Amino acid sequence: MKCMQKEIDIKVKDSLAQDLQKGVPVLLKDGFHETDSLVDGTILKLRNPGGKFIGKGYVGKQNKGIGWLLTKNEAETIDTGFFQNKITNALKHRKDYYENDDTTAFRVFNGEGDGIGGLTIDYFDEFYLLSWYSEGIYAFKEQILKALESAVPSYKGIYEKKRFDTKGQYLEDDDFVKGERGEFPLLVKENGENFAIYLNDGAMVGVFLDQREVRKKIRDEYAKGKTVLNTFSYTGAFSVFAAAGGAKKTTSVDLAKRSLSKTTEQFEINGINVEEQDIIVMDVFDYFKYAKRKELSFDMVILDPPSFARSKKYTFSSAKDYTKLLMDAIAITEKNGVIVASTNNATFGMKKFKTFVEKAFNESNRKYVIEDEFSLPSDFRTSPLFKEGNYLKVLFIRAK
Ligand code: SAH
Repeated sequence: MKCMQKEIDIKVKDSLAQDLQKGVPVLLKDGFHETDSLVDGTILKLRNPGGKFIGKGYVGKQNKGIGWLLTKNEAETIDTGFFQNKITNALKHRKDYYENDDTTAFRVFNGEGDGIGGLTIDYFDEFYLLSWYSEGIYAFKEQILKALESAVPSYKGIYEKKRFDTKGQYLEDDDFVKGERGEFPLLVKENGENFAIYLNDGAMVGVFLDQREVRKKIRDEYAKGKTVLNTFSYTGAFSVFAAAGGAKKTTSVDLAKRSLSKTTEQFEINGINVEEQDIIVMDVFDYFKYAKRKELSFDMVILDPPSFARSKKYTFSSAKDYTKLLMDAIAITEKNGVIVASTNNATFGMKKFKTFVEKAFNESNRKYVIEDEFSLPSDFRTSPLFKEGNYLKVLFIRAK
């Protein structure tokens, strides 16, 4: 593959030119007169309608836009050195994470928050995982790999996830890029607990790093002596932290069959007796009905649904249905129990999320107090001028 990217001059609409000048990092489609002819991976010299240079970006078509701004400096060339500067700067911001032996999994590079939209890099105990969000950024793979290798002090191996439509071409590979192959599960630590990570087995590796502070809060301040229901539990990461914090019992519910073995594994590598926990493979919405019928109730209910979910019987959209989900949870939450409500939907903010809470409690005739709030942890750096990048919202709600 050739290393040099094509560079073209392009005039954008005044509205986009003004946004870019302010530092908005995303190239939205409607800021362009025409985008069909733009080829992924092309460098754009962006100019305002008057022809004045505004910045350089790259074409990378993804759901968020058609590309990203890279620099406002006309003299800067987009090459290995450019990427190395960005990565080196990102590493400086994660110094404390590298130095903390209790946590060996964190985000090293967070897209536009670190100056390159469309690319994230995660660290899992000396292995690096690159996630490419468009064919456009993937076109810079060689330079970015070289830049990463020069920027980090050492590493064992590099893996990648192509999070763009590969039209089935890459299904057979195991996402290995270079260095040593890992032995999976790779055991990493988070605030002293263990997680089993698989870098070679599909899009999801076993844990969502952005919930680190929420898990710690549950373990350190909320779990002791409590019965905990963890819905949409995936590999049971919240359950592990609840159990580690002395929960009386955890119940994990997810409809994916793999969640049973995955959750069992996470408990076992943490020395938690699986026999004392419930792991249920079931549709969450059926579980709520079942729990109500059996008059089950919990001291803590964790809600962390995907933004959209379609199962055989139900469709769930967090923007439309979160209030109802909360009402289902409230109905089986003990008096003075706690609901942990989380959403990663970028289309609404914290204010709107709180209106869902208000409505759900009003309709359930229960009072509540919000005791804690979380957004992304500091390794998930965001750009102040790209709010959608700051997607995570988590509330700890005391149900009276
Ligand atoms: N809370 C998890 C991450 C959730 S990922 C964590 O902290 O690690 C979303 C999960 O929701 C997936 O595992 C998916 O299988 C599950 N899921 C989606 N729709 C569901 C439904 N209707 N019932 C139960 N689980 C569902």
